[in-house]
Amino acid sequence: PTLRIVMSTCGLAAGAAETRAAFEEALERRGLEARIVAVGCLGHCYAEPLVVIHHPASGFPPLCYYNIDPGKARMLVDSFLLDGDPALEYVLGAMVPNDLLPAVTDFPRFSMEQRVVMEHCGAIDPHSLDDYLALGGYGALATALGRSPGWVLDEVARSGLRGRGGAGFPTGRKWRLAAEAPADSKVVICNADEGDPGAYMDRTIMESNPHQLLEGMALCAYAVGAEEAIVYVRAEYPLAVRTIQRAIDDARKAGLLGERILGSDFSLHIRVFQGSGAFVCGEETALIQSIEGRRGMPQHRPPYPVEAGLWGRPTVVNNVKTLSTVPAILTRGAHWFRSIGTEKSPGTAIFSVVGNVTHAGLVEIPMGTTLRTLIFDVCGGIPKKKAFKAVQIGGPSGGCLSGDFLDTSIDFDSLTEAGAMMGSGGMVVMDEDSCMVDVARYFLDFTQNESCGKCTFCRIGTRHLLLILDRITKGEGREEDLELLDTLSRDIRDGSLCGLGKTAPNPVLTSLRYFRDEYEAHVREKR
Ligand code: SF4
Repeated sequence: PTLRIVMSTCGLAAGAAETRAAFEEALERRGLEARIVAVGCLGHCYAEPLVVIHHPASGFPPLCYYNIDPGKARMLVDSFLLDGDPALEYVLGAMVPNDLLPAVTDFPRFSMEQRVVMEHCGAIDPHSLDDYLALGGYGALATALGRSPGWVLDEVARSGLRGRGGAGFPTGRKWRLAAEAPADSKVVICNADEGDPGAYMDRTIMESNPHQLLEGMALCAYAVGAEEAIVYVRAEYPLAVRTIQRAIDDARKAGLLGERILGSDFSLHIRVFQGSGAFVCGEETALIQSIEGRRGMPQHRPPYPVEAGLWGRPTVVNNVKTLSTVPAILTRGAHWFRSIGTEKSPGTAIFSVVGNVTHAGLVEIPMGTTLRTLIFDVCGGIPKKKAFKAVQIGGPSGGCLSGDFLDTSIDFDSLTEAGAMMGSGGMVVMDEDSCMVDVARYFLDFTQNESCGKCTFCRIGTRHLLLILDRITKGEGREEDLELLDTLSRDIRDGSLCGLGKTAPNPVLTSLRYFRDEYEAHVREKR
């Protein structure tokens, strides 16, 4: 038998290490042999610890068990591995279709998803290069090396891939600008400085399938003519740091990174740089400053990093999800990628859906799926029969959308039009008990703390916004405060240099627009 235990951060936080120890102890006590494999996240974070047991002699397909604590682990060894009784009440689903059980792919959670980046997350051992190779891993790189950098640039441009870090800039165009920039030495940086509260997509991808990201980085470096690449990952992600570092070492030993990759003329050296956890370092110019050993502060553009970035060299900065999508595009073709999603936002979107939602976790859906489908069908709706109130999309600088927007299509342009943004993919769902003024205050408190202080509007303006929200939530608000919040928010948006300041007032502006009655109720309470 094989036991696959989800040991990414979400699994470990739920007790997967104790579950694994209990399995090992029970197997030894019963004198049973079984292979235990630590895998990454399956996306069902609400059901951790998750264990997939494949016991071929039982006749059952691989079964996915949920909420397996040490007691249930011991019970499963006795009942299933010893006696052949699969204890179906603890089964979330089967990993392949079977007459007896619904396939995992029959669950709304999976059948409505379309996994491109997360296809192998939770299925393969992230520490095994062989697992990745067995699935055709590094095949796209081998193909590209047999063709030309121009072929990679054309294919990525044709796919219509847009940057998954938030702004949605066309990836092909960014890469071509870097490729055409005249310089002897260029750099590729993977931005893994995921800092939004409630967002953990990038961390999970690095913990679950690190070679896919490295292959994407190698393809980007080959396309633009870079021989150096850096994974910029925050130090608060120790498991992701270790997993990526090990993958780099393994790939180098196998000749998939380093000098003259796969016998070609292309060489690439990738290293990990650990950020210190400043949210603003997710902004590409601040990130570059941070690697250069300076204080992480955004810079005026132009010049853009693709012209003059790290140490003045042309630099491509792409998010984890963007780079991880590239191997699939080059393997299956730009046309295939364009067949998923919408015309202007092809492909899939990955969200970490958290908050008041029944099946919180990671989901990958085709762009164009509506918010209603994502929240109610894929993620099981609002628990305890409560009513939906709002969803915060795009992290602290995104926007709060009310129930009127549930039929909005999830794509770059529709979300921006609605007043929110795709952001990096954090989504917090709120039920009827949430106070939207508190929510706006919470997110503003975060961005205010994370302001680097360079611009007056962002540094002082957000502070004043917070003070006003403070007095409103304490019941000391004044009638004129709502007008003041609105004006000040617009001033901060217009007067700030980088995305942090420009978008920090979004939670205030959107909650004022869609939940003004709650602000008014707070102010009235005072009287
Ligand atoms: Fe720094 Fe804020 Fe200005 Fe951005 S907008 S540079 S975070 S002060």
